[in-house]
Amino acid sequence: MTKTHKLAFALLVVPFILFIPLVARWFLSPNLAVVYAESNARYFNNELPTTTVLDWNEHEDGTVASTQFDGERFHLSFNRAYANEIQIEDVKHEMCHIATWDEVEDHGPRWQECMARAK
Ligand SMILES: [Zn+2]
Repeated sequence: MTKTHKLAFALLVVPFILFIPLVARWFLSPNLAVVYAESNARYFNNELPTTTVLDWNEHEDGTVASTQFDGERFHLSFNRAYANEIQIEDVKHEMCHIATWDEVEDHGPRWQECMARAK
């Protein structure tokens, strides 16, 4: 290898190799908008709000997903660390929180009924 070849290798191939895990993760991560829309139709008769903001977060260690309401819209946030392990039950879990948001108890009777219904 000449010096120019080594430089070309370093500048082109090395960044490409380092980039592969990022690209793979992007391809393997479920598309949240699609998962939400499909689940809304399939399990919730399209009754959940279409304005829900979906995103991946980096910081909630040990939490697969969380749901918040800002007074206008729901925010459904999935932990990127579990991107390849997200199950439909995790999605339904959060969507039932949206469906039963006014229930005082976190996983109360209405939430449990929602989970049982969403089959
Ligand atoms: Zn919960």
